Amino acid sequence: MAITLNAPLTALSGIGPTIAEKLAKRHLHTVGDLLFLLPYKYQDRTRITAVNDLVYGDSAQVLVTVQSAHIKQGRQRMLVIECCDDTGWLTIRLFHFSAAQAKLFKPQTRVLAYGQAVEGQGRWAMMHPETKVLRAQDSVQLSDKLTPVYPSTLGVGSVRIIGWVVQALAVLQRETLSDFPAAFLQAQGLSPLKEALFAIHQPLVGQRQADLLSPDNPHLRRVVLDELLAKQIGMLRKKAQAQQAPATALRIDNACQTALLRQLSFALTNAQARVIGEIFADLERPHPMHRLVQGDVGSGKTIVAFSALIQAVANGVQAVIMAPTEVLSEQHFRQAQQLLQPLGIHCCWLSGKLTGKKRREVLAAIADGSAQVVIGTHALFQEDVHYQQLGLAVIDEQHRFGVHQRLLLREKAENTGKVPHLLVMTATPIPRTLAMSFYADLDTSMIDELPPNRQAIDTLLLADNRRPQLIARIQALVERGQQVYWVCPLIEDSELLQAQSAEDIYAQLREALPELNIALLHGRQRSEEKAQIIADFSANKTQLLVSTTVIEVGVDVPNATLMVIENAERFGLAQLHQLRGRVGRGAEKSYCVLLYQLPLSSTARQRLQVIRNSQDGFAIAQEDLKIRGAGEILGTKQTGEMSLRIADLERDGQWLETAYELAKGLIANQPAFADEIVARWVGDALLYSTV
Ligand code: ADP
Ligand code: MG
Repeated sequence: MAITLNAPLTALSGIGPTIAEKLAKRHLHTVGDLLFLLPYKYQDRTRITAVNDLVYGDSAQVLVTVQSAHIKQGRQRMLVIECCDDTGWLTIRLFHFSAAQAKLFKPQTRVLAYGQAVEGQGRWAMMHPETKVLRAQDSVQLSDKLTPVYPSTLGVGSVRIIGWVVQALAVLQRETLSDFPAAFLQAQGLSPLKEALFAIHQPLVGQRQADLLSPDNPHLRRVVLDELLAKQIGMLRKKAQAQQAPATALRIDNACQTALLRQLSFALTNAQARVIGEIFADLERPHPMHRLVQGDVGSGKTIVAFSALIQAVANGVQAVIMAPTEVLSEQHFRQAQQLLQPLGIHCCWLSGKLTGKKRREVLAAIADGSAQVVIGTHALFQEDVHYQQLGLAVIDEQHRFGVHQRLLLREKAENTGKVPHLLVMTATPIPRTLAMSFYADLDTSMIDELPPNRQAIDTLLLADNRRPQLIARIQALVERGQQVYWVCPLIEDSELLQAQSAEDIYAQLREALPELNIALLHGRQRSEEKAQIIADFSANKTQLLVSTTVIEVGVDVPNATLMVIENAERFGLAQLHQLRGRVGRGAEKSYCVLLYQLPLSSTARQRLQVIRNSQDGFAIAQEDLKIRGAGEILGTKQTGEMSLRIADLERDGQWLETAYELAKGLIANQPAFADEIVARWVGDALLYSTV
């Protein structure tokens, strides 16, 4: 019986159980799977290039005759072979060779070499090209197709993979693949999938490598779209599945909400009211909410979160609010005490640093349900924390909230037989394309309006040598009763170095401004110490707060009107925006000074100008995406979860929207086709995973 695309890989000749096992680790199980392992480049072995016609940096195949060969000793042992053809000289350098191999390169031997042409000592050279020594009787065999090169990560040489792919293509030849109507494909500039696969694995002679690999190649585009479709279908199904899970339907208690709002000194913005309405509508359903609220720094997300928390409590289930840092969680806790305690709601704070008797008390209160609202860091989801009845989780300022954490959250409510409602809030605006790919399974709300009378923040770029003028200005500002943040340079991956540099700056500023009360805040202080420092700053007992990036999120002191950021050129744009959002919260005009070290490169200047010229977090995030790429914005772990094989979100982002719409249509109208697409990209894994 002829084999099909669904046959196991061992059906192909050359693949035994051992290799099949290796391939399975790379999610290659069936003959069809091989077809979606794409070459990342091509070699042109269809012709021989004269040495004289080599192009610097291009790879080419040459046929040359050995003139001499010697082994050069030194730091790197090397076999140097001087060769020529009728048009010029070429030096071949080989780094890994056995004595027997070295002997093959005798004078007058013909060598077929494929490699990248570089220049070495006035003549052409190839460093470690692929070489084939021809015997006198051998004729030169030219390939009649471009040679695809497959990723070496499989632990199998590309040449062997070519052999398997050729067999798989022969199977494909006999089968039909479900595909979109020809007219649609044509309109979109896409080839039919079957044709695309042949064209990618066995491109026609004469095509240029650059065209083959270009994102505009209609064959490649078709495969890219297929992968994005698989991902979107998977996520939409996951979403549908999650929506079926049972959750506690909350009856919205308007009296409670009114009591909360009555305590505020302000009225909600329209945007806040709308988003709260969206959240309430979710909470009333007997299925879990999965909502992402995006709102720029200062848009007032906290009160939105609190509105949800009190509804949980009013319905007799527990609610948690998790923040990424201790500082922020403490701030939330203080606000909760101010706003929720008066409503008779019992709030607790939990962090990894809480120990001993206190910790035991809090854990007991969480377990018996007397802690109605629990506020904290990741500690909220640690193993020894048992909730009596967790009904709602709010995750603040955490756009890197991944699948893993969602599973943990579920576990914490397992005892109730239900899934908690989930609200994720972020100030880092996620560009639409990214939101569609990573959060397609979340509903999103936007707080797209800042509270009225917000002051625009004036942002200045200042070279570091102007520090004295800046310090004089701080003195004047404090004399008028205002306060200042001074953010220390970002030192990646070292809390210790960062703390040390903060200590230095703190010492310098104390010397320069002896009359001011200056405080220092960094990540290595104990939590009580940090809480005290922030409380003192909030109460204007200290006027200048020297701090590391621990104040990045959430700290709220309206009387602070100046933020200085040292070595601003080292920060990401979104981070600068986030930091800057700590000022401009009160009635007074606020400023942000970005100190930079000279000399400043022109790209660095450009980036800082983006911040200076814009206060729109969304525009800034778009710029940041251009400069840094998706991986960095979302964190590599998250992009790992996305794990696209062929598609590249930046290059192919324009297809996401198409993929999303198509995916919805397929799920509704052609579920079997949808299954087929998912199966060829992820096997059955996604279909059955639950999150
Ligand atoms: P973020 O969205 O950055 O978390 P917060 O919730 O911390 O913003 O709110 C920032 C500041 O704005 C706080 O001082 C808060 O009390 C205040 N605030 C929130 N909503 C309003 C509003 N509708 N009118 C005026 N001030 C508001
Ligand atoms: Mg906040």
